[in-house]
Amino acid sequence: MIKEQIQQLSKDIFDDVVANRRHLHSHPELSFEETKTSAFIAGKLDALGLKYERMADNGLVALIKGEKPSDNRVLALRADMDALPITEANNVPYKSQNVGVMHACGHDAHTSSLLGTAKILTDLKSHFGGTVKLIFQPAEEKLPGGASLMIKEGVLENPKPQAVLGQHVMPLIDAGKVGFRAGKYMASTDEIYVTVRGKGGHGAQPQQNIDPVIITAHMLTALQQVVSRFADPKSPSVLSFGKVIANGATNVIPNEVYLEGTFRTMDEKWRADAHIKMKKMAEGLVESMGGTVDFNIMKGYPFLINEEKLTMATRSHAEDYLGKENVLDLDIWMAAEDFAYYSQVADSCFYRLGTRNESRGITSSVHTPTFDVDEDAFKISSGLMAYLAVKQLGN
Ligand SMILES: [Zn+2]
Ligand SMILES: [Zn+2]
Repeated sequence: MIKEQIQQLSKDIFDDVVANRRHLHSHPELSFEETKTSAFIAGKLDALGLKYERMADNGLVALIKGEKPSDNRVLALRADMDALPITEANNVPYKSQNVGVMHACGHDAHTSSLLGTAKILTDLKSHFGGTVKLIFQPAEEKLPGGASLMIKEGVLENPKPQAVLGQHVMPLIDAGKVGFRAGKYMASTDEIYVTVRGKGGHGAQPQQNIDPVIITAHMLTALQQVVSRFADPKSPSVLSFGKVIANGATNVIPNEVYLEGTFRTMDEKWRADAHIKMKKMAEGLVESMGGTVDFNIMKGYPFLINEEKLTMATRSHAEDYLGKENVLDLDIWMAAEDFAYYSQVADSCFYRLGTRNESRGITSSVHTPTFDVDEDAFKISSGLMAYLAVKQLGN
């Protein structure tokens, strides 16, 4: 049976997956700079005898063709490879050797796991039908996102996959378990950059100034109405401003106030409407108070939707592979992920790989200097993906 074969191979390659992850972890590279990471992956694909194509500079795409007669389905598996500008605070043997850069989002785990899946599927290619497309993608963490570039360069063509699967580490879930959510799962994200201009002066003479601080206070409060009054309460929206700089003094009103924020939602039409509403509201309000405003929105990733039928099928295959008790349901997650670009154009399923281990102190969230993964997660990460692939290909 193919399940037992995958489980056995998964045990055989465990040490390799750990070693590859540790190598990648100690040699992290920032988004769009993953040249050594890309060369490392290329070397591993060469060793498996897999040909690959380069895309978006550091991205790699390879095919594994099953040899059993089939209806020629194609399924894509995606892993990302970039690290973050964070200085690692863990004291581990595989600590980042590139100071100031860290695999704090687990993309080292995704890449090493997909290399493991590639090994399993290559060994088993006489036992399944259909084609697996491996996507090693750069630059998930930085706009415009490696996924959007690879799609532009044709990663979802020749051959065109009927579905795309991706897995991402999740430190809220124990190692050994995975999580799924059908339907809308992660948010679109847009960055907002605002400058409110007035006329600065002595704090004792407000009548001679146009106070951009007070104007900004009104604008910030008013903008929340976009979320609380205009947004459909059935669909989530978040507007947060984490940076507000009014660099005056107790008795100095500054000329301008600078703000940065984020807008997140799960509906592309509403997202576009909200951009117009926020800009209009800010401009109208600031002008009515005598100031001027530059309200700039930098569009980020779209929202991520897990196609219902594919996700339900994949979830049940995961139950079959791991046991029902190890497959959990996920909540909506208002973070963003460039896998969303695949989900906007192809049936997709993005699921979570548990990496938490409280007894080993592995609980930190992603994007923090103490983030780590429990390597026990690699006992299932490669094998599960291989199993999901062969099942989805109709075997
Ligand atoms: Zn991340
Ligand atoms: Zn990530």
